[in-house]
Amino acid sequence: MAESTDRRASLQLGMNYGKAHGRLWKQVILWLAKQLGLDFCFRCGKRIETPQELSLDHKLPWLDVDPALYWDVENNIAFSHFDCNVKAARRPFRSPEFLAEVGRAVSRSWTKRRREAQSKRAKNQGKTGLRWTKEQRAKQAERVKNQQPWKHRHDN
Ligand SMILES: [Zn+2]
Repeated sequence: MAESTDRRASLQLGMNYGKAHGRLWKQVILWLAKQLGLDFCFRCGKRIETPQELSLDHKLPWLDVDPALYWDVENNIAFSHFDCNVKAARRPFRSPEFLAEVGRAVSRSWTKRRREAQSKRAKNQGKTGLRWTKEQRAKQAERVKNQQPWKHRHDN
């Protein structure tokens, strides 16, 4: 059923429905960017005029560096001309300053994730009472000792 809807939509739009959907997304994003004064290319600084030119760009490259940079919408995503984006991706030379900045960004994102994991762990411990009392620890130590009598022969 969804298939026939897709086919009807494709026929009526005069193009593949999936492609149309992607195009619509771009149109909406550029429209919003214009409202916000963000319709400028991160690479060349010029205005992005048409949805066809628009691309989502990563300020710092994520590939072979850190997947977290791929998803960092707040800090690492920018708009650019598709051509400027492609040109930048092909640029072979990476200066030491640039690589240092990549390193800092990666370490920032790792620190952030580590902190999040820590606070999550702390929260869960509080919730489920996973932190043992002194008595519980002593009891557990006793249990372990009893499970391995061969290690404590001298106790007998
Ligand atoms: Zn550009």
